[in-house]
Amino acid sequence: MIRRPMIAGNWKLNGTVTESLALVRELRNRLDKVRDCDIVIAPPYTALHPVAARLEGSNIALAAQDIYWEGSGAYTGAVSGSLLKEVGCAYVLVGHSERRQLFGETLESSSRRMKAALASGLVPILCVGETLAERQAGRTDEVVAAQLDAGLMDLSHAQLAKVVVAYEPVWAIGTGQVATPAQAQQVHDMIRERVRARDVDIAKTMRILYGGSVKPENAAELLSQPDIDGALVGGASLKVESFAGIVEARPR
Ligand code: PEP
Repeated sequence: MIRRPMIAGNWKLNGTVTESLALVRELRNRLDKVRDCDIVIAPPYTALHPVAARLEGSNIALAAQDIYWEGSGAYTGAVSGSLLKEVGCAYVLVGHSERRQLFGETLESSSRRMKAALASGLVPILCVGETLAERQAGRTDEVVAAQLDAGLMDLSHAQLAKVVVAYEPVWAIGTGQVATPAQAQQVHDMIRERVRARDVDIAKTMRILYGGSVKPENAAELLSQPDIDGALVGGASLKVESFAGIVEARPR
């Protein structure tokens, strides 16, 4: 397999420190034998530091859910890449649709976040995806391509090679309405083609995750598509059974 699968859990605004540590303990116990898959969890900011300590020596990596592009200064409420690295993050989500829709994140700000993440030594997971209205208007490719182009804009070859992309149709997030494997594969193929236009080799190795109501029951079929290299999981990442079930559904 050219691309190592990745299963990432986005906990969103869920989990006190106590709850997060309890879930981490269960995940470690359940997943400690997995060697052929990158497993990533993204707890809330407040749990990152204690969770990082509990993940030491494990096969589970830590992600933040957002990053601000300035390094330090008068930016109330913001968290920089260097602070995320300091507490043990290896990855960061960029441009999640909830950030775009609820917190005013734009194409331009997602580009700044991508550059800041890479400059700090974090691997960005760039989230792209169309709304239901955009899909119904036949604009899926155009919208996803614009988000992708903005996120990858001005990255060096070495930076581009590190990026992970997550295709998350907004209409499938938290709705229980999963994209069909064919619908997802079609967009993943489009994304890979677009990366190929920039660099043929990076297009072969870049991981493109699918996100949107992934569950153990639908994961195997989605993950067996040729251009789906893993999953970004919201709701089902909050329970050890369902998250581990998705990891166990990866093709082997
Ligand atoms: C997400 O928020 O990234 C997501 C995919 O959520 P869910 O799995 O709950 O649809």
